Amino acid sequence: MFLNFNTPTPLEQYKFQNIPFLLKRDDLISFDFSGNKARKIDYYSKSIPKDIDTIVSYGSIQSNAMYSLAKFASLMGLHFRYYANHIPSYLQENPQGNLLYALNEGMELLEGYSNIVTKENELFIKEGIATKEAYFGIEKLARELLEQVGEGEYQVFLPSGTGTTALFLSKALQKLGASQLRVYTTACVGSSNYLKKQWQELEADEKCYPIIIETKKRHHFGKLYREFYQIWLELQNETGVEFELLYDPKAWLTILENRELFENLLYIHQGGKLGNISMLPRYRRKYGENI
Ligand SMILES: *Cc1c(COP(=O)(O)O)cnc(C)c1O
Repeated sequence: MFLNFNTPTPLEQYKFQNIPFLLKRDDLISFDFSGNKARKIDYYSKSIPKDIDTIVSYGSIQSNAMYSLAKFASLMGLHFRYYANHIPSYLQENPQGNLLYALNEGMELLEGYSNIVTKENELFIKEGIATKEAYFGIEKLARELLEQVGEGEYQVFLPSGTGTTALFLSKALQKLGASQLRVYTTACVGSSNYLKKQWQELEADEKCYPIIIETKKRHHFGKLYREFYQIWLELQNETGVEFELLYDPKAWLTILENRELFENLLYIHQGGKLGNISMLPRYRRKYGENI
């Protein structure tokens, strides 16, 4: 089956807090497979073995990867079973955001990682689609970028969860000989050391690892920070583009704190805007309407 992705995605010029930057609009790749999840899933659309009837994965209850996999399975005529470590009762009663969309695609939701089982006819995909197979689609992103920037020198920035996208983008650009494009990232889930450990599981050659930059303050993934919401809002006001609320704010804080490194910035918008549907009410509950 062929997934209908709108590629190549546009590369547009913007400015934020006096930093001019190019924005790779991978958020426009597809409504259902926002951003990097589309790139990571690409491989599977061409290579699901005939005897597979179910996809199994696990991770957070509002994960972007979860919804993308649910949609993918439904398009492919496959069953999708997903394990969340904890299902909060308010969500069970009133699902929203990625969870609602995924359930509408027929996702079977189970609680507890200790209950994870896969059978022979089932394809197991690691949390966040952090798999070697993801390279296939991310390499296409690298080719698109190279075609769009030509000889131009850029610092390419994208925030990391599992780090799969940043790692494989960096690796693919290196393989393509694109030394004018250097990949920078920041760890949104866990520490920089944790991110490096994730990379070591996917790629032994450290020479192709992205450059990791940190913010002064440590943030915990999924927690609500006033400065995250503020930067998200300012981004939207200044650029007219909606970013997402879990990864992009941390990324932009990193960029603003280290702006001297980013003379020619190229930022990858990795989608995830469906997640905002559940994040925004959480912010409003915590900080009120006048945040
Ligand atoms: C999933 C996701 C990420 C993290 O991608 P990794 O490949 O796991 O590092 C970053 N931004 C957005 C918007 C995402 O949905």
